[in-house]
Amino acid sequence: MVERQKPGTILALMAHPDDAEFLCGGTLALLAAKGWAVHIAAATPGDAGAASLQPDEIAAIRRREGASAAGLVGGTFHCLERRDLRVFYDEDGVRRAHSLLRKVRPDLVITHSPADYLLDHEEISKVARTACFGAAVPNAPALDANLPPCGKIPCLYYADPIEGIDLFGQPVRPSFAIDISSVLNLKLDMLARHASQREWLRLHHGMDEYLESARRWSQQRGALIGAAAAEGFRQHLGHAYPRENLLLAALGEKARML
Ligand SMILES: [Zn+2]
Repeated sequence: MVERQKPGTILALMAHPDDAEFLCGGTLALLAAKGWAVHIAAATPGDAGAASLQPDEIAAIRRREGASAAGLVGGTFHCLERRDLRVFYDEDGVRRAHSLLRKVRPDLVITHSPADYLLDHEEISKVARTACFGAAVPNAPALDANLPPCGKIPCLYYADPIEGIDLFGQPVRPSFAIDISSVLNLKLDMLARHASQREWLRLHHGMDEYLESARRWSQQRGALIGAAAAEGFRQHLGHAYPRENLLLAALGEKARML
């Protein structure tokens, strides 16, 4: 049987396991339904996300949870193996991200908002920005130098910051939103695969409703475009990055400019 070519490849490169599901899981599910190859990468294995387990123990659990969540949309989970609260924009991080991009060869990358509540998020956002630029640069530093460079810079998008606000509490308005009403339950199923994080947030943040907060946030973004649920994005439009809106083109009937 001849394998049908995928219409595109999406990489969500975020800080921690479950960030991608929370911020863009619905969009990933919609792209997967259109036949796109889905890759979810976390900078860390979430090694600080437990009250009573050692870092290596919780990391092993969370790598499995990440793979399980990605598997719900036929996706692949990757981990850059940095550590929680120690995600830096540094040479090692850029090398790891370059290797990931050369391996995955995405058409479209989603990362964290450049301004967010946690520096791990902001730092991996910078790493993703550089890795997209360097993806097509033959001499860009990569951990695995045998992987050939990508043929192009992928379209880069920033997801909403957590709670839609920057570090000063100011609202960050997305430039467009994707209606995820039809896949909201699937997004919540993906999140539910992160069972340890659900429990950890309950203990650490006093949030007893991991899934409900994701549902409420999706509904809040949905209200911007008159949909039951949505996810917001901004595209990186700086020099040399592609300015075509590939995400909008792929999900045209679900997307609304704001
Ligand atoms: Zn995070």
